[in-house]
Amino acid sequence: QAASVEDMLEIVADRFSFQLQQKDIDIALILEDGLPDAYVDSDAMDQVLDNLVSNAIKYTPAGGQIRLEAYAVPGDWIAFKVQDTGVGIPKKDLERIFERFYRVDKARSRDMGGTGLGLSIAREIVRAHGGTIRLESGLEAGDQQGTTVTFTLPSVEKEVKNRV
Ligand code: ATP
Ligand code: MG
Repeated sequence: QAASVEDMLEIVADRFSFQLQQKDIDIALILEDGLPDAYVDSDAMDQVLDNLVSNAIKYTPAGGQIRLEAYAVPGDWIAFKVQDTGVGIPKKDLERIFERFYRVDKARSRDMGGTGLGLSIAREIVRAHGGTIRLESGLEAGDQQGTTVTFTLPSVEKEVKNRV
């Protein structure tokens, strides 16, 4: 169904507002003007955003920043970006990060809770909508560059054209 991108992002940001405040993490919503609605299963998309934002909060130290961004991409797609200033993901783990139950460094993740399913489910849902998802993290020994997850979803305009 058609879903407002702004609503999708605001609902998730509001859900985590208490945790964000507790960790003193600032969250910014950046929406391109005139963005069309997304053509998605909103419950499924909420699950994707919920996991990405909860990951961003889990792996970002107090005082950090999270950006939720959405913009149009040629071909009637909408791109979403969830960016954090957190601990990042080592290069050697990037390839496997979307696998079920895969978690970086058990010692690091153990205290955080979770099963390692969130990203694999997110990828399944995005792919079921015809979109793609990728994760970038620039962790080199010692420096913390944070993580960016980018995924695409069809806009309603795509659906309208498919009907003709
Ligand atoms: P679940 O989502 O099932 O509660 P989880 O968050 O551990 O558990 P995923 O969401 O699949 O599982 O993430 C897999 C692993 O990727 C995490 O355990 C963590 O090591 C790493 N990771 C995911 N997102 C980030 C991030 N934003 N910053 C740093 N590491 C991350
Ligand atoms: Mg998760």
